[in-house]
Amino acid sequence: MEQRHAPASQPDDALSVLVVEDDAGLAGSLVRGLSRAGYRATGVGTGRGALLHRPVPDLVLLDLGLPDLDGVEVCRSLRRRPDVAIIVVTARGEEGDRVVALDEGADDYLVKPFGLAELLARVRAVMRRVRPCGPGPLTHGPLVVDPRTRKVLVRGNDIALTPKEFDILQCLAVDPGRVVTRQEILERVWDAHWYGPTKVLDVHLAALRRKLGVPGLVETVYGRGFRLGEAG
Ligand code: CA
Repeated sequence: MEQRHAPASQPDDALSVLVVEDDAGLAGSLVRGLSRAGYRATGVGTGRGALLHRPVPDLVLLDLGLPDLDGVEVCRSLRRRPDVAIIVVTARGEEGDRVVALDEGADDYLVKPFGLAELLARVRAVMRRVRPCGPGPLTHGPLVVDPRTRKVLVRGNDIALTPKEFDILQCLAVDPGRVVTRQEILERVWDAHWYGPTKVLDVHLAALRRKLGVPGLVETVYGRGFRLGEAG
């Protein structure tokens, strides 16, 4: 029997996932798998369809090889909305596209072929990172960090951060006072298997501190890591 609809209707507060994939067979099986796992999943076959899709989904699974638009361009356009999580999908041999997409704000990537279990694990990890405590903003002294809108306020003033700076700050703001190690930040903000130099973190941290403009707010705990301090 042909199945035209998602197999199960999900509660309204279930996370919505938009599958952007022009291979109809693959798209169908991803939508079914995500629906069975409790997400409100729908599929579109074009980049234009992804950009026009309403309501805006919580997470987009974006195949970069699309028939109408350049997938990286689609990623960049989606990223203008700070509340959308993006996982890009590439075929083997398209590593360059993947790197560009990550630079353009994708939160993670998958390489085809991938299994449903791996997809679901990545979706959970990305959503944990993007919305660690549900939709509520995290506050600490003069600082407000909103994981849902990815907005940051210091004493009521909007602070414009890059995606990486925001992710670093969010790691610290989730549990102020707890020391977060360099490795933990690198794994959560960059990649689960980060083996590169940790200097990249210092560069982003310096920029983050400068933008926040509150001395002592991001504390270095020598030899251990970083935490939000009692500043302000
Ligand atoms: Ca494709």
